Amino acid sequence: MPTNFVSADLQLAFDLMAGCATLTHNVQKAHITSADKADRSPVTIADFAVQAYVAQALGERFPADQMVAEESSNLLHEDDGTLLAAVTSQVKTLLPQAEPKLICDWIDHGQGQPTGRYWVLDPVDGTKGFLRRMQYATALALIEDGEVLMGVLGCPNLPFDGQIGVIAFASLGQGAWWLPYQIQSDPKPLRVSDIKTLSQARILRSYEDSHTDSPCIEIFAHLAGMNVDPLRMDSQAKSFVLAGGQADLMMRLLSPDRLDYSEFIWDQAPGYRVVLEAGGTITDTNGNPLDFSTGRRLTNNQGILATNGWVHEQALRILEQT
Ligand code: AMP
Ligand code: MG
Repeated sequence: MPTNFVSADLQLAFDLMAGCATLTHNVQKAHITSADKADRSPVTIADFAVQAYVAQALGERFPADQMVAEESSNLLHEDDGTLLAAVTSQVKTLLPQAEPKLICDWIDHGQGQPTGRYWVLDPVDGTKGFLRRMQYATALALIEDGEVLMGVLGCPNLPFDGQIGVIAFASLGQGAWWLPYQIQSDPKPLRVSDIKTLSQARILRSYEDSHTDSPCIEIFAHLAGMNVDPLRMDSQAKSFVLAGGQADLMMRLLSPDRLDYSEFIWDQAPGYRVVLEAGGTITDTNGNPLDFSTGRRLTNNQGILATNGWVHEQALRILEQT
């Protein structure tokens, strides 16, 4: 990537996402076999390896910043050391100085406080997609005083514009951009679609029924007169697809089993900045702006509605009827 195009912070974020894809691919190759499909250990190894790798770099480069990430090293101390050894061997491929104690310290750097200026990481967003070898993302954001300044989405399996494996990045006021992992090229802009009629729009939704309200999405699509089936996809790869204009609205409706659910900031902040900078609109499902000042979870919001902007008000009106 040409260095005059992006800030040094963004260049670092890009380089980190590229490293993360190496880690996640290697873990899939080494640990997901058809025999252990049901086993969660591959995703656990990938989660810890990515968090250690990203935290090491951010801690070194921005020692004054906090980092808020999903994992802590507690689980790594619970077994006979097998898990920690597997994580260490993966991280060593990128950071030769890695050893078990350092790995735990790096991971726990990610247990910082969501105050002031802080980095937010979802090491493997869409863990079920990762295990199915479908979509997942490594998602990083920078927040300062409740404002999401930057979002980066590494989507190692996402097909986009003829490439497979793409990265989106966006900074406040600087637009949203994407690049393939594999080919050296200049970043290209991401732009939401200009579909203006809800009946012609395509919905993006969670692959997992348990993360949303599938019957309600069906009713919504029916009331909106839509004739294209919703696109089911894991992770914030959905935000990339929306930002790139390949679908028109993304819904996270509260699951009927978890009506008290508040979103984690690492599941929302990276994709939020990418979608907004691509020209989209994001609110919760009641039409309220997302409030990133409430700590690790968006406790002032219920559900998420992200759209190309044009269909947002129409979608909110239909949501009121569902
Ligand atoms: P997705 O792949 O879009 O379904 O989102 C994956 C994220 O959903 C995970 O990272 C979890 O943090 C989050 N999640 C887990 N349970 C729920 C739930 N009941 N409702 C909404 N999101 C959830
Ligand atoms: Mg996640």
